[in-house]
Amino acid sequence: MEKFPPLNYVEVPSKIPGFVIYAPAQEKVVENKITEFKCPKCGAFTAYAIDQSGLACEHCGYQEQILVDIVGREAEKFEFSLENLARATHGWGEERKDLRCLSCGAEINLPPESMATTCAFCGSNKVVQASANQDQLRPKYLIPFKIDPQKCQQIARNWLGDSWMVPKELKNFAAMDSFTAIYLPYWTFHAITDASWQAEVGHRVSERYYDSSSKSWKTRTKIVWRWESGNTGLRIDDLLIAGTERVSARHLGNVNEFDLSAIVAYSPGFLAGMQAKGYDRPLESAWERAREVMREKTKAACMGQASTSMVRNFSMKLDFSDESWRYLLLPVYLAAYQFIGKTYHAIVNGQTGDISGQRPVDWKKIRLVIALILAPGVVTGLVGLLSMGSSGDGLSIGIIGFVLLIIGLITSIVIFVKADKEGKA
Ligand SMILES: [Zn+2]
Ligand SMILES: [Zn+2]
Repeated sequence: MEKFPPLNYVEVPSKIPGFVIYAPAQEKVVENKITEFKCPKCGAFTAYAIDQSGLACEHCGYQEQILVDIVGREAEKFEFSLENLARATHGWGEERKDLRCLSCGAEINLPPESMATTCAFCGSNKVVQASANQDQLRPKYLIPFKIDPQKCQQIARNWLGDSWMVPKELKNFAAMDSFTAIYLPYWTFHAITDASWQAEVGHRVSERYYDSSSKSWKTRTKIVWRWESGNTGLRIDDLLIAGTERVSARHLGNVNEFDLSAIVAYSPGFLAGMQAKGYDRPLESAWERAREVMREKTKAACMGQASTSMVRNFSMKLDFSDESWRYLLLPVYLAAYQFIGKTYHAIVNGQTGDISGQRPVDWKKIRLVIALILAPGVVTGLVGLLSMGSSGDGLSIGIIGFVLLIIGLITSIVIFVKADKEGKA
């Protein structure tokens, strides 16, 4: 008996209920076109130059424009289907290699001529080079860098300079120059949500009651709960989910307001001489995360329909439709710098220049400032306490001291919390 399904036959979508249909598998198109970036004049490697928006040869000064195809927010989206994934192009479209970090586990994709020996994510130099992983989906789009390295340095210096909590030595710290320009993987998601909800909604009503102890009628408010229900939906476009978990989600979240109207079609030229990161959070798990975000947004829209903000026993039936995704690369600068034995991270948006990161804190300075803030309250309080016996003003001086002390304590706590947050990942 012949084997079923026959060799190279695969299941295809069936329009007849109850019937499974097989068809010959389509041959997977393998794109082997590899672009090389060599200078036609001198043969040295060319690299993408941010200030020229094109390829440049550092050796002889040769310049070459690359074809920039701006597609913006209208960039084609893809449905969630296995076919789409199978048909998608894989690899980087050029010769690349990977740098694997033995400290943090990150894999960074590099041009073949790159001499990089430190990990952009953790600053470690415990790295090994390997041939690039060409199994990943090829990015379809990217946003080119707009901020050049000098500008990035300036942004980092201003950022360090605008906090008095940062140690003075750091403001001219050479390590801040060590930002690495790198393309990070991102997924964008689109979907239409449709929710029906019900919940108990609280209403304040006043009621009259007879107070037996004072033998009089009084009013009091109480909350009456009534069931309400509703129906709403949202159209969610261009929801960005990072394709990597190697960068602190908090700091990445602080800088990921990208202007998606600048999206261009991917071409390997943009990556010439640049580092890039393949995704370590694949499409499926990024989509899970996107659904959570969409669920929260839709829930907030439902809550907004309730007649008051007091809501309990909320439940929601949620449907997603018209779901689609894109895979693109977005430009950032990463710095992992050492300061007195500790590693700090900073990230700069390569399109907008927004910055977020950890800053070391000069705790000696902060202790001194807190002491100065608390001193007036303590001193005035003591003066009040000591003069309480001898003069009548003691009590009022004491009260002023107490108030000053409370203000000082609140200010100190605010400063402490802010300082503590600076160093956090
Ligand atoms: Zn050249
Ligand atoms: Zn690392």
